[in-house]
Amino acid sequence: MAMRMSSLFLRTLRENPADAEVPSHQLLVRAGYIRRVSPGIYTWLPLGLKVLRKVERIVREEMDAIGAQELLFPALLPREPYEATGRWDEYGDNVFRLIDRKGADHLLGPTHEEMFTLAVKDLYSSYKDLPLSIYQIQTKYRDEARPRAGLLRGREFVMKDSYSFDLDEAGLDKSYELHREAYVRMFDRLGFHYVIVQAMAGAMGGSKSEEFLATAENGEDTYVRCTNCGYAANVEAVRVPVPDAVDATHVPAAHVEDTPDTPTIDTLVDHLNEAFPRDDGRPWTAADTLKNVLVMLVHPDGTREPLAVGLPGDREVDEKRLGAQVEPAAVEAFDERDFAARAVLAKGYIGPGVLGAERPSGIRYLLDPRVSEGTVWVTGADEPGHHVLDLVAGRDFTGDGTIEAAEVRDGDACPSCGHGLESARGIEMGHIFQLGTKYAEALDLKVLDEFGRLRTVIMGSYGVGVSRAVACVAEGNHDELGLVWPRAIAPADVHVVATGKDESVLAYAEELTRALEGQGVDVLLDDRRQASPGVKFKDAELIGVPTIVVVGRGLADGTVELKDRRSGERREVAVASAVPEILAEVGRA
Ligand code: ATP
Ligand code: MG
Repeated sequence: MAMRMSSLFLRTLRENPADAEVPSHQLLVRAGYIRRVSPGIYTWLPLGLKVLRKVERIVREEMDAIGAQELLFPALLPREPYEATGRWDEYGDNVFRLIDRKGADHLLGPTHEEMFTLAVKDLYSSYKDLPLSIYQIQTKYRDEARPRAGLLRGREFVMKDSYSFDLDEAGLDKSYELHREAYVRMFDRLGFHYVIVQAMAGAMGGSKSEEFLATAENGEDTYVRCTNCGYAANVEAVRVPVPDAVDATHVPAAHVEDTPDTPTIDTLVDHLNEAFPRDDGRPWTAADTLKNVLVMLVHPDGTREPLAVGLPGDREVDEKRLGAQVEPAAVEAFDERDFAARAVLAKGYIGPGVLGAERPSGIRYLLDPRVSEGTVWVTGADEPGHHVLDLVAGRDFTGDGTIEAAEVRDGDACPSCGHGLESARGIEMGHIFQLGTKYAEALDLKVLDEFGRLRTVIMGSYGVGVSRAVACVAEGNHDELGLVWPRAIAPADVHVVATGKDESVLAYAEELTRALEGQGVDVLLDDRRQASPGVKFKDAELIGVPTIVVVGRGLADGTVELKDRRSGERREVAVASAVPEILAEVGRA
């Protein structure tokens, strides 16, 4: 059925809503696609729901095409399965929790690994049942700390999540590859500009994980790509190439020096250049210093663990990279009280002399990969006003391991080919991930193999942000006048605008609408009698249907006007050939 603006449940706004910062959010509200209920929670109005359903259909078709089967789990879930995998605690404040009348804990599902795993365990028991891929398109709930940008980061949102179940790694690789191909087709159809980047594999080291990022200047994700080879990675997943060990036998023994009033890297570097000029004349720079940053990790069970990160003094710790490394722990600042409680820490002068699980502070000490065997550093000597020089990594100190927490900069070496990296921003639209056996083990999902032995099933998980896609496409397809939908997900194929109060105009617009409908074309008809042509044109630009047909003054001469919303191009076509012309325009001829 055509949508008629005379009765459509829609009010367009001329002004941007006060809480909307990004264009997609502003335009989706102004053009009457969504309405805010509370932060991160939105109502889909008829136009918005049309777009959402079209996105869902594309996602569904591509999932079905790789043989995945659709099912639907509840959003309201019991605590126990999430308790079994540890996620009841790990999710912390991010999950919505409720208690039923009998006092039993429940949650609103943030993602459904547990439920899928249990469903397969419930129904299947043999290798003959595998491989299996199942999926749902379902409403998820996450109490995001910063719901943002309308549908882009909601607290209630629609996700497609699928899961694959295989007997072995080779099977998993195949399921993963099929999903990857389905995602490429899906995102191509949705009309995104996107990149596929390596992502954090999480605790199950070595497993494959990639994200599909829509390129967008105001995206929340930063990724880097190599200017030479095909390497691209989410900044969280970038691995710093470990330098070869260097010979440090010529380096004199480490020595502690007086460096009064040098609690910051800048003051230290100035002092070094003044008081300890190097023989070869090279000036000291921040990169010669080893900076030790303290943070407090808060684990899901509430325990607090201090952590020290050692990195070159010219780099900052990147919060997101650090956060990704220590998940599920949260990172908090190491505050004055934390210092006060540990007398061995000389603030501003902390060094490897006290840091480390086996050292006086007992604080776990992780090093940036650049602090590698044989590298020489200036760093804190653990007493105020003192630093140690000629301190050699490996010879004079070691950490408890390495950590990828330092910021990645444009020009840093590509881990794959060594050329320079450059960074850009994007919006995560999809994530494909080789889970391995984490959930199958926790929930005891095993099947009998061909020799009658029990084997743990190997899983993959694959998500797409369906409601986020609506906003993300809007973000990439608009101009100063309004939205400009790609045809595949526009709320209608054609927007017929009847201008003027002449009955013959309205009558013909109705006739044209019915004729197009008869050919399977989705029509939005502006048949409002009260609205002026100017208002109608403005609304048409704002709503963003790709083809606008103006039925008005030209009708007396037997013509209507076809306008391409994207290019702005207009042309007159004869009424007699209007239907075939429009069909050709919308790709239905
Ligand atoms: P992000 O890093 O953006 O928080 P995530 O890594 O938590 O996302 P997944 O758990 O991998 O997301 O979820 C799968 C997909 O669901 C994501 O790729 C994204 O497109 C979408 N998604 C996740 N969180 C939200 C949200 N709060 N609002 C809308 N879509 C979301
Ligand atoms: Mg993700």
